[in-house]
Amino acid sequence: MITAKMCLDRYGSPVHENNMMLWDVPEVMERSAIPGRIYCNKDMQPALAQAIVNLIVRNQVQNLKTWDGCFNIRSVRGGSSASLHSWGIAVDVNASWNSLGTEGNMTPEFVECWTDAGFTWGGTFTRKDPMHFELSSFKD
Ligand SMILES: [Zn+2]
Repeated sequence: MITAKMCLDRYGSPVHENNMMLWDVPEVMERSAIPGRIYCNKDMQPALAQAIVNLIVRNQVQNLKTWDGCFNIRSVRGGSSASLHSWGIAVDVNASWNSLGTEGNMTPEFVECWTDAGFTWGGTFTRKDPMHFELSSFKD
């Protein structure tokens, strides 16, 4: 699990936007809800690309209904620590049906596309956040 402290040590304050990139999503990966460009952390981009490939090849991409953001400097909802969105290593999807504190409506097959790619799912948190996927670990 990656903590806000680990991100602070690695990237510094979110306001510096260190290690961020504007990823031009390959056309072959672009499907309805996936944006053509995603502003995200370079450390997360390979895992995100793999998750999108998984969604496509496992016939789950149609279940990605809405893209609800990646980089966003803010606190954890209802908390004081910085959200991992502040460093662009977390994404929210299908937010309308997967509110904080609910079970949400994601299938195991959909979730596995992300967890197999190196993400931790917010639906497993003590305070469930099923719209949320965050990078599980740093590769170096
Ligand atoms: Zn989130």
